Amino acid sequence: MNKYNTAVIGAGPAGMMAAIIASQNGKRVALIEKNAQPGRKLLATGNGRCNLTNKYISTGRYHGASPEFIKTVLGQFNQTAAMKFFNNLGLVLKEEDNGRIFPRTNQSSSVAEVMRLALVEHGVHILLNTQVKAIERQGVWKVLLNNQSALKTDSLIIATGGRAAHYLGSTGDGLYWAQKLGHSLTPIHAALVPMETVETWPKEIQGIKVEAGIRATSNDNKIGETTGDLLFTSYGVSGTAAMALAGSIAPLLKTSRVRLHIDLFPDMTKEELDLIILHIFQNAGKRTLRGSLIGLLPDRIIPVVARFAKLDEHKQAGKISHANRLEIVRVLKDITLTVSKLRPMKEAQVTAGGIDTREIKPQSLESKLMKGLYFAGEIIDVDGDSGGFNLQWAWSSGHLAGMSAE
Ligand SMILES: Cc1cc2nc3c(=O)[nH]c(=O)nc-3n(C[C@H](O)[C@H](O)[C@H](O)COP(=O)(O)OP(=O)(O)OC[C@H]3O[C@@H](n4cnc5c(N)ncnc54)[C@H](O)[C@@H]3O)c2cc1C
Repeated sequence: MNKYNTAVIGAGPAGMMAAIIASQNGKRVALIEKNAQPGRKLLATGNGRCNLTNKYISTGRYHGASPEFIKTVLGQFNQTAAMKFFNNLGLVLKEEDNGRIFPRTNQSSSVAEVMRLALVEHGVHILLNTQVKAIERQGVWKVLLNNQSALKTDSLIIATGGRAAHYLGSTGDGLYWAQKLGHSLTPIHAALVPMETVETWPKEIQGIKVEAGIRATSNDNKIGETTGDLLFTSYGVSGTAAMALAGSIAPLLKTSRVRLHIDLFPDMTKEELDLIILHIFQNAGKRTLRGSLIGLLPDRIIPVVARFAKLDEHKQAGKISHANRLEIVRVLKDITLTVSKLRPMKEAQVTAGGIDTREIKPQSLESKLMKGLYFAGEIIDVDGDSGGFNLQWAWSSGHLAGMSAE
Protein backbone atom coordinates (compact mmCIF):
# COMPACT_ATOMS: atom_id res chain seq x y z
CA MET A 1 0.00 0.00 0.00
CA ASN A 2 1.41 3.39 -1.01
CA LYS A 3 2.35 5.62 1.90
CA TYR A 4 2.39 9.46 1.72
CA ASN A 5 3.16 12.30 4.10
CA THR A 6 0.05 14.16 2.93
CA ALA A 7 -2.99 13.09 0.91
CA VAL A 8 -5.37 15.71 -0.48
CA ILE A 9 -8.87 14.62 -1.48
CA GLY A 10 -10.36 16.76 -4.28
CA ALA A 11 -8.44 18.47 -7.08
CA GLY A 12 -10.53 21.63 -7.07
CA PRO A 13 -8.87 25.02 -6.57
CA ALA A 14 -8.44 24.48 -2.80
CA GLY A 15 -7.06 20.94 -3.14
CA MET A 16 -4.67 21.82 -5.97
CA MET A 17 -3.31 24.78 -4.00
CA ALA A 18 -2.90 22.62 -0.87
CA ALA A 19 -1.07 19.89 -2.81
CA ILE A 20 1.33 22.35 -4.49
CA ILE A 21 2.22 24.01 -1.20
CA ALA A 22 2.62 20.76 0.77
CA SER A 23 4.91 19.36 -1.93
CA GLN A 24 6.91 22.62 -1.99
CA ASN A 25 7.43 22.02 1.72
CA GLY A 26 9.12 18.72 0.92
CA LYS A 27 6.18 16.43 1.56
CA ARG A 28 5.41 13.32 -0.48
CA VAL A 29 1.90 14.21 -1.64
CA ALA A 30 -1.01 12.36 -3.27
CA LEU A 31 -3.87 14.36 -4.83
CA ILE A 32 -6.98 12.23 -5.37
CA GLU A 33 -9.71 13.31 -7.80
CA LYS A 34 -12.72 11.36 -8.99
CA ASN A 35 -13.07 13.31 -12.24
CA ALA A 36 -10.94 12.56 -15.29
CA GLN A 37 -9.24 15.98 -14.99
CA PRO A 38 -8.37 18.35 -12.16
CA GLY A 39 -10.33 21.58 -11.64
CA ARG A 40 -13.53 20.82 -13.54
CA LYS A 41 -15.47 23.44 -11.60
CA LEU A 42 -12.61 25.89 -11.92
CA LEU A 43 -12.98 25.61 -15.71
CA ALA A 44 -16.65 26.65 -15.44
CA THR A 45 -15.97 29.72 -13.29
CA GLY A 46 -16.59 33.29 -14.44
CA ASN A 47 -18.42 32.06 -17.55
CA GLY A 48 -15.28 30.23 -18.60
CA ARG A 49 -13.06 33.23 -17.85
CA CYS A 50 -12.34 32.55 -14.14
CA ASN A 51 -12.70 35.56 -11.88
CA LEU A 52 -9.92 34.26 -9.66
CA THR A 53 -9.78 36.92 -6.96
CA ASN A 54 -10.68 40.51 -6.15
CA LYS A 55 -8.57 43.52 -5.26
CA TYR A 56 -11.01 44.44 -2.50
CA ILE A 57 -11.12 41.28 -0.39
CA SER A 58 -12.49 41.94 3.11
CA THR A 59 -14.19 39.82 5.76
CA GLY A 60 -17.44 41.76 5.16
CA ARG A 61 -17.76 40.03 1.78
CA TYR A 62 -17.94 36.59 3.41
CA HIS A 63 -20.71 34.80 5.28
CA GLY A 64 -20.97 31.84 7.64
CA ALA A 65 -18.02 31.61 9.99
CA SER A 66 -17.06 34.39 12.41
CA PRO A 67 -15.18 37.34 10.86
CA GLU A 68 -12.18 36.53 13.12
CA PHE A 69 -11.91 33.01 11.69
CA ILE A 70 -12.14 34.28 8.10
CA LYS A 71 -9.67 37.11 8.78
CA THR A 72 -7.10 34.74 10.29
CA VAL A 73 -7.23 32.47 7.24
CA LEU A 74 -7.31 35.20 4.57
CA GLY A 75 -4.58 37.16 6.37
CA GLN A 76 -2.04 34.37 5.87
CA PHE A 77 -2.38 34.29 2.08
CA ASN A 78 -4.32 37.28 0.83
CA GLN A 79 -5.27 38.44 -2.67
CA THR A 80 -1.88 40.11 -3.25
CA ALA A 81 -0.12 36.88 -2.30
CA ALA A 82 -2.47 34.89 -4.56
CA MET A 83 -1.81 37.19 -7.52
CA LYS A 84 1.93 36.91 -6.92
CA PHE A 85 1.61 33.11 -6.70
CA PHE A 86 -0.11 32.99 -10.10
CA ASN A 87 2.35 35.48 -11.62
CA ASN A 88 5.15 33.17 -10.51
CA LEU A 89 3.41 30.30 -12.31
CA GLY A 90 3.53 32.42 -15.48
CA LEU A 91 -0.10 33.52 -15.44
CA VAL A 92 -0.61 37.13 -16.51
CA LEU A 93 -3.58 38.81 -14.82
CA LYS A 94 -5.79 41.79 -15.51
CA GLU A 95 -8.21 43.85 -13.47
CA GLU A 96 -11.80 44.55 -14.50
CA ASP A 97 -14.63 46.52 -12.87
CA ASN A 98 -15.13 46.38 -9.09
CA GLY A 99 -11.61 45.04 -8.56
CA ARG A 100 -12.31 41.68 -10.21
CA ILE A 101 -9.17 39.87 -11.35
CA PHE A 102 -9.09 37.58 -14.41
CA PRO A 103 -6.39 35.81 -16.40
CA ARG A 104 -5.35 38.02 -19.30
CA THR A 105 -6.12 35.15 -21.66
CA ASN A 106 -9.81 35.33 -20.61
CA GLN A 107 -9.67 31.56 -20.27
CA SER A 108 -10.15 29.63 -17.05
CA SER A 109 -8.23 26.77 -18.68
CA SER A 110 -5.06 28.90 -18.36
CA VAL A 111 -5.51 28.93 -14.56
CA ALA A 112 -6.24 25.21 -14.36
CA GLU A 113 -3.32 24.37 -16.64
CA VAL A 114 -0.65 26.41 -14.80
CA MET A 115 -1.76 24.71 -11.60
CA ARG A 116 -1.67 21.25 -13.17
CA LEU A 117 1.84 21.90 -14.47
CA ALA A 118 2.95 23.08 -11.02
CA LEU A 119 1.57 19.88 -9.48
CA VAL A 120 3.47 17.76 -11.97
CA GLU A 121 6.67 19.79 -11.57
CA HIS A 122 6.52 19.41 -7.79
CA GLY A 123 6.15 15.65 -8.09
CA VAL A 124 2.63 15.45 -6.69
CA HIS A 125 1.19 11.99 -7.35
CA ILE A 126 -2.13 12.84 -9.08
CA LEU A 127 -4.71 10.05 -9.06
CA LEU A 128 -7.47 10.87 -11.54
CA ASN A 129 -10.70 8.88 -12.07
CA THR A 130 -10.22 7.84 -8.45
CA GLN A 131 -13.08 8.23 -6.03
CA VAL A 132 -12.43 8.11 -2.31
CA LYS A 133 -14.98 5.78 -0.75
CA ALA A 134 -14.09 6.08 2.92
CA ILE A 135 -11.43 7.31 5.32
CA GLU A 136 -10.29 5.55 8.46
CA ARG A 137 -7.93 6.43 11.28
CA GLN A 138 -5.58 3.50 12.00
CA GLY A 139 -2.65 5.20 13.70
CA VAL A 140 -2.04 6.92 10.35
CA TRP A 141 -4.92 7.73 7.94
CA LYS A 142 -6.14 5.04 5.59
CA VAL A 143 -7.93 6.27 2.46
CA LEU A 144 -10.08 3.66 0.70
CA LEU A 145 -10.42 4.10 -3.05
CA ASN A 146 -13.03 2.95 -5.58
CA ASN A 147 -10.69 0.51 -7.32
CA GLN A 148 -10.43 -1.70 -4.22
CA SER A 149 -7.05 -0.16 -3.40
CA ALA A 150 -6.10 2.10 -0.52
CA LEU A 151 -3.31 4.42 0.53
CA LYS A 152 -1.85 5.49 3.85
CA THR A 153 -0.95 9.01 4.86
CA ASP A 154 0.26 10.89 7.93
CA SER A 155 -1.95 13.89 7.28
CA LEU A 156 -5.15 14.21 5.31
CA ILE A 157 -6.60 17.35 3.71
CA ILE A 158 -10.27 17.14 2.72
CA ALA A 159 -11.03 19.61 -0.08
CA THR A 160 -14.06 17.98 -1.69
CA GLY A 161 -16.12 21.19 -1.99
CA GLY A 162 -19.72 21.75 -0.93
CA ARG A 163 -22.86 20.55 -2.68
CA ALA A 164 -23.32 23.28 -5.31
CA ALA A 165 -23.17 22.27 -9.01
CA HIS A 166 -22.71 18.61 -8.03
CA TYR A 167 -22.45 17.55 -11.68
CA LEU A 168 -18.95 19.06 -11.62
CA GLY A 169 -17.89 16.68 -8.83
CA SER A 170 -18.80 18.22 -5.47
CA THR A 171 -21.39 15.75 -4.21
CA GLY A 172 -20.86 16.45 -0.52
CA ASP A 173 -18.78 13.34 0.26
CA GLY A 174 -16.38 15.24 2.51
CA LEU A 175 -19.25 16.71 4.52
CA TYR A 176 -20.49 13.17 5.18
CA TRP A 177 -17.04 11.89 6.27
CA ALA A 178 -16.48 14.91 8.52
CA GLN A 179 -19.80 14.28 10.22
CA LYS A 180 -18.93 10.59 10.71
CA LEU A 181 -15.68 11.67 12.34
CA GLY A 182 -17.64 13.75 14.84
CA HIS A 183 -17.72 17.18 13.19
CA SER A 184 -20.87 19.31 13.20
CA LEU A 185 -22.31 20.88 10.06
CA THR A 186 -24.10 24.22 9.95
CA PRO A 187 -27.34 24.26 7.88
CA ILE A 188 -26.54 23.79 4.21
CA HIS A 189 -28.33 25.71 1.49
CA ALA A 190 -27.67 27.24 -1.89
CA ALA A 191 -26.03 30.67 -2.17
CA LEU A 192 -25.46 32.57 -5.42
CA VAL A 193 -28.45 30.86 -7.01
CA PRO A 194 -31.37 32.07 -9.18
CA MET A 195 -34.85 32.46 -7.67
CA GLU A 196 -38.38 31.48 -8.63
CA THR A 197 -41.14 34.03 -8.22
CA VAL A 198 -44.87 33.86 -7.52
CA GLU A 199 -45.55 36.32 -10.35
CA THR A 200 -45.36 34.88 -13.85
CA TRP A 201 -44.63 38.08 -15.80
CA PRO A 202 -40.84 37.49 -15.85
CA LYS A 203 -41.62 34.67 -18.32
CA GLU A 204 -43.05 37.29 -20.74
CA ILE A 205 -39.68 39.00 -20.82
CA GLN A 206 -37.40 35.99 -20.33
CA GLY A 207 -33.93 36.45 -21.75
CA ILE A 208 -33.85 40.21 -21.12
CA LYS A 209 -30.90 41.32 -19.02
CA VAL A 210 -30.79 44.75 -17.38
CA GLU A 211 -28.51 46.60 -14.98
CA ALA A 212 -30.74 47.00 -11.92
CA GLY A 213 -30.75 47.78 -8.25
CA ILE A 214 -32.51 45.15 -6.14
CA ARG A 215 -33.66 45.59 -2.55
CA ALA A 216 -34.81 42.41 -0.82
CA THR A 217 -37.34 42.61 2.03
CA SER A 218 -38.71 40.09 4.47
CA ASN A 219 -42.16 41.10 5.76
CA ASP A 220 -41.26 44.61 4.51
CA ASN A 221 -37.99 44.80 6.48
CA LYS A 222 -34.90 45.29 4.34
CA ILE A 223 -32.59 42.24 4.35
CA GLY A 224 -30.21 43.06 1.51
CA GLU A 225 -29.45 45.28 -1.45
CA THR A 226 -27.37 44.86 -4.61
CA THR A 227 -26.81 46.45 -7.98
CA GLY A 228 -25.77 44.56 -11.09
CA ASP A 229 -27.00 42.22 -13.80
CA LEU A 230 -30.60 41.05 -13.51
CA LEU A 231 -31.79 38.41 -15.96
CA PHE A 232 -35.49 37.66 -16.34
CA THR A 233 -36.19 33.95 -16.85
CA SER A 234 -39.12 31.59 -17.44
CA TYR A 235 -39.30 30.87 -13.69
CA GLY A 236 -38.26 34.23 -12.15
CA VAL A 237 -34.90 35.95 -11.95
CA SER A 238 -31.22 35.17 -12.33
CA GLY A 239 -28.07 37.24 -12.97
CA THR A 240 -25.34 38.26 -10.55
CA ALA A 241 -27.44 40.84 -8.67
CA ALA A 242 -30.35 38.49 -8.01
CA MET A 243 -28.13 35.53 -7.17
CA ALA A 244 -26.12 37.60 -4.72
CA LEU A 245 -29.21 38.03 -2.53
CA ALA A 246 -30.08 34.32 -2.38
CA GLY A 247 -27.86 33.54 0.61
CA SER A 248 -29.60 36.05 2.88
CA ILE A 249 -33.06 35.16 1.55
CA ALA A 250 -32.79 31.36 1.94
CA PRO A 251 -33.19 31.13 5.74
CA LEU A 252 -36.26 33.46 5.71
CA LEU A 253 -38.26 31.97 2.86
CA LYS A 254 -40.24 29.46 4.91
CA THR A 255 -41.32 31.87 7.60
CA SER A 256 -41.85 35.22 5.90
CA ARG A 257 -42.91 36.94 2.69
CA VAL A 258 -39.74 37.79 0.78
CA ARG A 259 -39.94 40.38 -1.97
CA LEU A 260 -37.54 41.88 -4.47
CA HIS A 261 -37.97 45.56 -5.22
CA ILE A 262 -36.39 46.18 -8.61
CA ASP A 263 -35.07 49.58 -9.59
CA LEU A 264 -34.56 49.65 -13.38
CA PHE A 265 -32.75 53.01 -13.13
CA PRO A 266 -30.48 52.73 -10.07
CA ASP A 267 -28.21 55.48 -11.40
CA MET A 268 -31.00 58.10 -11.42
CA THR A 269 -33.30 59.78 -8.94
CA LYS A 270 -37.05 59.78 -9.62
CA GLU A 271 -36.80 63.46 -10.56
CA GLU A 272 -34.03 62.86 -13.09
CA LEU A 273 -35.91 59.96 -14.64
CA ASP A 274 -39.13 61.98 -14.78
CA LEU A 275 -37.36 64.79 -16.65
CA ILE A 276 -36.08 62.32 -19.26
CA ILE A 277 -39.52 60.78 -19.76
CA LEU A 278 -41.14 64.24 -19.94
CA HIS A 279 -38.69 65.18 -22.70
CA ILE A 280 -39.47 61.95 -24.57
CA PHE A 281 -43.24 62.48 -24.32
CA GLN A 282 -42.99 66.13 -25.41
CA ASN A 283 -41.19 65.04 -28.58
CA ALA A 284 -43.24 61.90 -29.20
CA GLY A 285 -45.65 63.42 -31.74
CA LYS A 286 -48.32 60.81 -32.42
CA ARG A 287 -46.30 57.89 -31.08
CA THR A 288 -47.89 55.46 -28.65
CA LEU A 289 -46.59 54.93 -25.12
CA ARG A 290 -44.81 51.78 -26.29
CA GLY A 291 -43.36 53.49 -29.36
CA SER A 292 -42.15 56.47 -27.36
CA LEU A 293 -40.35 54.44 -24.67
CA ILE A 294 -38.53 52.23 -27.15
CA GLY A 295 -35.31 54.22 -26.76
CA LEU A 296 -35.44 54.11 -22.96
CA LEU A 297 -36.33 50.48 -22.17
CA PRO A 298 -35.93 47.06 -23.78
CA ASP A 299 -39.02 46.75 -26.01
CA ARG A 300 -40.61 43.72 -24.33
CA ILE A 301 -40.49 45.28 -20.86
CA ILE A 302 -42.69 48.22 -21.89
CA PRO A 303 -46.05 46.35 -21.83
CA VAL A 304 -45.22 45.05 -18.35
CA VAL A 305 -44.43 48.55 -17.10
CA ALA A 306 -47.58 49.93 -18.75
CA ARG A 307 -49.68 47.26 -17.06
CA PHE A 308 -48.24 48.03 -13.62
CA ALA A 309 -48.84 51.75 -14.21
CA LYS A 310 -52.42 50.88 -15.24
CA LEU A 311 -51.93 52.44 -18.68
CA ASP A 312 -52.74 51.27 -22.20
CA GLU A 313 -49.47 50.77 -24.07
CA HIS A 314 -51.23 51.99 -27.24
CA LYS A 315 -52.23 55.32 -25.67
CA GLN A 316 -50.76 58.37 -27.40
CA ALA A 317 -47.71 59.44 -25.40
CA GLY A 318 -48.42 63.17 -25.73
CA LYS A 319 -51.77 62.66 -23.99
CA ILE A 320 -50.36 60.99 -20.89
CA SER A 321 -51.07 63.07 -17.79
CA HIS A 322 -48.54 64.28 -15.25
CA ALA A 323 -49.94 61.87 -12.64
CA ASN A 324 -49.71 58.93 -15.07
CA ARG A 325 -46.14 59.87 -15.91
CA LEU A 326 -45.21 59.90 -12.23
CA GLU A 327 -46.80 56.47 -11.93
CA ILE A 328 -44.57 55.20 -14.75
CA VAL A 329 -41.53 56.59 -12.90
CA ARG A 330 -42.69 54.95 -9.67
CA VAL A 331 -42.98 51.56 -11.42
CA LEU A 332 -39.60 51.89 -13.13
CA LYS A 333 -37.99 52.60 -9.75
CA ASP A 334 -39.84 49.82 -7.89
CA ILE A 335 -41.27 46.79 -9.68
CA THR A 336 -41.95 44.15 -7.08
CA LEU A 337 -41.59 40.38 -7.26
CA THR A 338 -42.37 37.83 -4.54
CA VAL A 339 -39.82 35.01 -4.14
CA SER A 340 -41.42 31.55 -3.95
CA LYS A 341 -38.25 29.46 -3.75
CA LEU A 342 -34.61 29.24 -4.71
CA ARG A 343 -33.57 27.16 -7.70
CA PRO A 344 -32.02 23.79 -6.81
CA MET A 345 -28.51 23.34 -5.47
CA LYS A 346 -27.28 22.10 -8.82
CA GLU A 347 -27.85 25.61 -10.24
CA ALA A 348 -26.02 27.31 -7.34
CA GLN A 349 -22.49 28.64 -7.66
CA VAL A 350 -21.72 28.22 -3.99
CA THR A 351 -22.86 26.29 -0.91
CA ALA A 352 -23.67 28.26 2.23
CA GLY A 353 -23.01 26.29 5.40
CA GLY A 354 -20.55 23.46 5.89
CA ILE A 355 -18.19 22.26 8.60
CA ASP A 356 -18.67 24.33 11.73
CA THR A 357 -15.56 26.50 12.06
CA ARG A 358 -15.71 26.36 15.87
CA GLU A 359 -14.26 22.85 15.43
CA ILE A 360 -11.38 23.95 13.16
CA LYS A 361 -8.19 25.74 14.25
CA PRO A 362 -8.04 29.03 12.30
CA GLN A 363 -4.22 29.22 12.44
CA SER A 364 -3.77 25.88 10.65
CA LEU A 365 -7.18 24.60 9.47
CA GLU A 366 -6.52 21.42 11.40
CA SER A 367 -9.53 19.73 12.96
CA LYS A 368 -9.83 20.37 16.71
CA LEU A 369 -11.26 16.86 17.02
CA MET A 370 -8.83 14.71 14.99
CA LYS A 371 -5.09 15.21 14.77
CA GLY A 372 -3.68 15.25 11.24
CA LEU A 373 -7.03 16.06 9.63
CA TYR A 374 -7.34 19.38 7.73
CA PHE A 375 -10.07 21.07 5.70
CA ALA A 376 -9.85 23.55 2.81
CA GLY A 377 -12.22 25.34 0.45
CA GLU A 378 -15.98 25.39 0.20
CA ILE A 379 -16.43 22.40 2.52
CA ILE A 380 -15.85 24.85 5.40
CA ASP A 381 -18.78 27.01 6.52
CA VAL A 382 -17.60 30.08 4.59
CA ASP A 383 -19.19 31.48 1.43
CA GLY A 384 -18.33 34.68 -0.33
CA ASP A 385 -20.03 37.24 -2.55
CA SER A 386 -19.85 37.02 -6.30
CA GLY A 387 -16.72 38.71 -7.72
CA GLY A 388 -13.77 36.38 -7.07
CA PHE A 389 -14.32 36.05 -3.32
CA ASN A 390 -15.02 32.31 -3.35
CA LEU A 391 -11.92 31.39 -5.31
CA GLN A 392 -9.82 33.61 -3.02
CA TRP A 393 -11.21 31.58 -0.10
CA ALA A 394 -10.16 28.39 -1.93
CA TRP A 395 -6.63 29.77 -2.51
CA SER A 396 -6.21 31.10 1.06
CA SER A 397 -7.59 28.02 2.82
CA GLY A 398 -5.82 25.61 0.46
CA HIS A 399 -2.53 27.40 1.00
CA LEU A 400 -2.92 27.37 4.78
CA ALA A 401 -3.88 23.67 4.94
CA GLY A 402 -0.97 22.80 2.63
CA MET A 403 1.47 24.81 4.79
CA SER A 404 0.18 23.28 8.01
CA ALA A 405 -0.14 19.60 7.08
CA GLU A 406 2.47 17.65 9.06
C1 LIG B 1 -20.79 27.95 -12.61
C2 LIG B 1 -19.90 28.47 -11.51
C3 LIG B 1 -19.20 29.64 -11.69
C4 LIG B 1 -18.38 30.14 -10.66
N1 LIG B 1 -17.64 31.28 -10.89
C5 LIG B 1 -16.83 31.74 -9.91
C6 LIG B 1 -15.97 32.87 -10.16
O1 LIG B 1 -15.86 33.39 -11.29
N2 LIG B 1 -15.22 33.34 -9.12
C7 LIG B 1 -15.24 32.75 -7.87
O2 LIG B 1 -14.55 33.23 -6.97
N3 LIG B 1 -15.99 31.65 -7.62
C8 LIG B 1 -16.76 31.13 -8.62
N4 LIG B 1 -17.50 29.99 -8.39
C9 LIG B 1 -17.35 29.31 -7.07
C10 LIG B 1 -16.05 28.47 -7.04
O3 LIG B 1 -15.91 27.75 -8.22
C11 LIG B 1 -16.04 27.51 -5.84
O4 LIG B 1 -16.23 28.22 -4.65
C12 LIG B 1 -14.71 26.73 -5.78
O5 LIG B 1 -14.56 25.92 -6.92
C13 LIG B 1 -14.63 25.84 -4.53
O6 LIG B 1 -13.40 25.19 -4.57
P1 LIG B 1 -13.15 23.82 -3.78
O7 LIG B 1 -11.78 23.37 -4.18
O8 LIG B 1 -13.45 24.00 -2.35
O9 LIG B 1 -14.25 22.79 -4.34
P2 LIG B 1 -14.56 22.24 -5.81
O10 LIG B 1 -14.13 23.19 -6.85
O11 LIG B 1 -15.98 21.84 -5.78
O12 LIG B 1 -13.64 20.94 -5.93
C14 LIG B 1 -13.87 19.79 -5.16
C15 LIG B 1 -13.27 18.60 -5.91
O13 LIG B 1 -13.37 17.42 -5.09
C16 LIG B 1 -13.68 16.32 -5.92
N5 LIG B 1 -14.30 15.28 -5.12
C17 LIG B 1 -15.47 15.34 -4.43
N6 LIG B 1 -15.73 14.17 -3.81
C18 LIG B 1 -14.69 13.34 -4.11
C19 LIG B 1 -14.39 11.98 -3.77
N7 LIG B 1 -15.20 11.23 -3.02
N8 LIG B 1 -13.24 11.44 -4.25
C20 LIG B 1 -12.40 12.18 -5.04
N9 LIG B 1 -12.65 13.45 -5.40
C21 LIG B 1 -13.79 14.03 -4.94
C22 LIG B 1 -14.63 16.91 -6.96
O14 LIG B 1 -14.72 16.11 -8.11
C23 LIG B 1 -14.00 18.28 -7.21
O15 LIG B 1 -13.09 18.27 -8.28
C24 LIG B 1 -18.30 29.46 -9.41
C25 LIG B 1 -19.02 28.26 -9.24
C26 LIG B 1 -19.80 27.76 -10.27
C27 LIG B 1 -20.55 26.46 -10.07
